[in-house]
Amino acid sequence: MTSTPVEANPKTDEGEVQETRKTDCCIVGGGPGGAVLALLLARKGVRVTLLEMHRDFDREFRGDTIHPSVMEILDQIGLAEKLHEIPHTKISGPTLQFANGTISPFNLARLNTKFGYILLVPQAKFLEFITGEAAKFANFRLVMHANANAMVEQGGVVKGVRYGNEEGVHEIQAQVVVGADGRFSQMRRLGRFETVKTSPPMDVLWFRLPKLPGEPEISGGAFGGIGRGRILVMLERTDYWQTGLVFPKGQYQKLHEKGVAAVRQEIREIDARFAKNAEALTDWQQLSLLSVESSRCPVWHKPGLLLIGDAAHVMSPVGGVGINYAIQDAVVTANVLTGPLKAGTVTDQHLAEVQRQREWPTKVIQAFQSFLQNRLIASVLLSQQVGNVPWQLRLLTKIPILRDLPPRLIGFGPKRVRLKEV
Ligand SMILES: Cc1cc2nc3c(=O)[nH]c(=O)nc-3n(C[C@H](O)[C@H](O)[C@H](O)COP(=O)(O)OP(=O)(O)OC[C@H]3O[C@@H](n4cnc5c(N)ncnc54)[C@H](O)[C@@H]3O)c2cc1C
Repeated sequence: MTSTPVEANPKTDEGEVQETRKTDCCIVGGGPGGAVLALLLARKGVRVTLLEMHRDFDREFRGDTIHPSVMEILDQIGLAEKLHEIPHTKISGPTLQFANGTISPFNLARLNTKFGYILLVPQAKFLEFITGEAAKFANFRLVMHANANAMVEQGGVVKGVRYGNEEGVHEIQAQVVVGADGRFSQMRRLGRFETVKTSPPMDVLWFRLPKLPGEPEISGGAFGGIGRGRILVMLERTDYWQTGLVFPKGQYQKLHEKGVAAVRQEIREIDARFAKNAEALTDWQQLSLLSVESSRCPVWHKPGLLLIGDAAHVMSPVGGVGINYAIQDAVVTANVLTGPLKAGTVTDQHLAEVQRQREWPTKVIQAFQSFLQNRLIASVLLSQQVGNVPWQLRLLTKIPILRDLPPRLIGFGPKRVRLKEV
């Protein structure tokens, strides 16, 4: 039984409730964190309802990276091989191009794992795969086009959520509500959680460039080129390049005014080898802006409600670790809550335990991202010269103990997370 209908038609601020259901855990947000948590709980017999506000998983671009730690978890539950059946490419490490040559700042192939690479699969396909696996359990319920916009609270304890769709207002009552609803989290807002912001000094334009016959092979599957105040990032996909142009915060308007021809010109100036690919950019609509943000909630929970993933900590795209961290939060949440959810004994201490285990790795990686952003990326973006390889990067690749740090941090984070079978 996925969830049980209870009393009907109470009036609320959002309108008359059409239907009320009871479940053990209601997860708001079918992104990587929410979907993986739903699967992990469902396979242990916990009644789970997953609410996703979009009609399908083909949402706006949010990154397509699956890290070694996630593949290890999926391997633990027998799904890693099946994941690799989805058309994909692999990145073992980027090649960065500076004025005086190239450097590879990290190589994931050095990691002690059978998955020494980042798997690039379209996120929509990944989410369909995970929720498809969850749907094999009768105690899992997925509701698409369900915009959770109100909380059910009694005496300071969250007892559920309400969501709206074209049929009206629906209420889900649950032992625990998990807010996995991303960087603009409604659950964070409704729960009145504080956030501490760190604003990285950059923004990114994302777009696709076609692959063309006879163009250079990029070793490691990813390329970074340095221009005058710009960084060009190219990730190899099966039939195109996922491309990012990184520029200092506050310059978007100026770039937009110059138009798409200026973006083509910048790509040509950074690396003339991609001039032909850049000709495919003809309309500003092909570009989307990622306003880079980074923040963290000092507290991730209140009675009956837990935030995970970007809802608890918005990750900067540096290192592409946001998906990895959201899924690691999901794994720890499943480790801590599965038993109490099944026994009906979840307390605020359990929710605090999730934060205790996940907060410090988040702080460590955000500090590492801040270091890269403020020391290396900012100096490149503020310079009008195409500089040489920064000495800090050279140091990172030369000293063995330092050389292994970035791949470990990027592949697994400061602590390897494993699924506990309870
Ligand atoms: C342009 C861009 C590129 C990125 N590239 C990368 C990358 O390459 N690698 C990487 O690791 N990270 C990347 N990130 C960061 C990454 O997307 C996030 O860190 C990660 O997706 C967080 O996962 P999540 O499950 O916590 O939240 P999200 O992936 O944001 O998922 C939240 C889900 O909740 C749903 N939702 C929101 N509100 C409601 C509501 N009220 N009711 C119901 N559903 C709701 C949303 O529709 C969404 O599906 C990128 C981010 C952006 C913006």
